[in-house]
Amino acid sequence: MVTRRAMLRGVLLTAGGAATAFAGSDHLEHWLGWDRPPLGGGYASAADNLGAVAHGGVRIHYFRPTAEKLVALTFDDGPRPEYTPRFLDVLDEARVPATFFVVGRHLDEHAGLVGRRWDRHEVGNHSWSHDDLATLDLAGARRELERTHDAIKRHTGREATLLRPPYGHLGGSTVLAADTMGYDIALWSHQMREREYADDPGAQAYDLIDTMRPGSIVLAHDAGDQRRLVALHALPALIAGLQARGYRFVTVSELLNG
Ligand SMILES: [Zn+2]
Repeated sequence: MVTRRAMLRGVLLTAGGAATAFAGSDHLEHWLGWDRPPLGGGYASAADNLGAVAHGGVRIHYFRPTAEKLVALTFDDGPRPEYTPRFLDVLDEARVPATFFVVGRHLDEHAGLVGRRWDRHEVGNHSWSHDDLATLDLAGARRELERTHDAIKRHTGREATLLRPPYGHLGGSTVLAADTMGYDIALWSHQMREREYADDPGAQAYDLIDTMRPGSIVLAHDAGDQRRLVALHALPALIAGLQARGYRFVTVSELLNG
């Protein structure tokens, strides 16, 4: 039986083209995935599609160390009627900005919920349908992002500049689509732990306060099941606690662009 390690050795040994001990082997092709393309339409590297390269690279951030105590709150998956206005109420009350990574079809459906209420906040792209972009080819990833970009423009008058891929999953097609659109990619360094703290928003707030570092990006959701409401209930204590420790809230773009 040929182990994966042995097959890898075979691949490495044959990389120069001197031998083809395993090339053509059904085992190898299956292991490499050549017999089952992982993406609709084929592979997603930029190398075979240079025409799509606009900038030659994308910045991917989950954190940006800063001298000043800055922190960026982010809310994914909305807007949803049962959540988003309540988050906006808390943010308005505290007068702090945040970044909303919207699902395009939710925005199209519920744009009336937000309107001018997003004026103090940043709006980023979280795809149209919340598909795993890493399973799509370049055309599919671009469709997801461009449709949402257009919806953000239509409903807020603003051009999004940030992508947060659903699930934080990245494939080459996602990165290349972001490059094409001039986006940076924003992941996160901290997150609300809805399962762990579903019934204890105070503990959730202080878990984040205690582990916060200047330049952090905090993930929460303004959509989803009831457990995610812990983020809403933890938010006032989180904001007050961080402000008492000298933190200032900024949007993700403000954080990344200094
Ligand atoms: Zn999401």
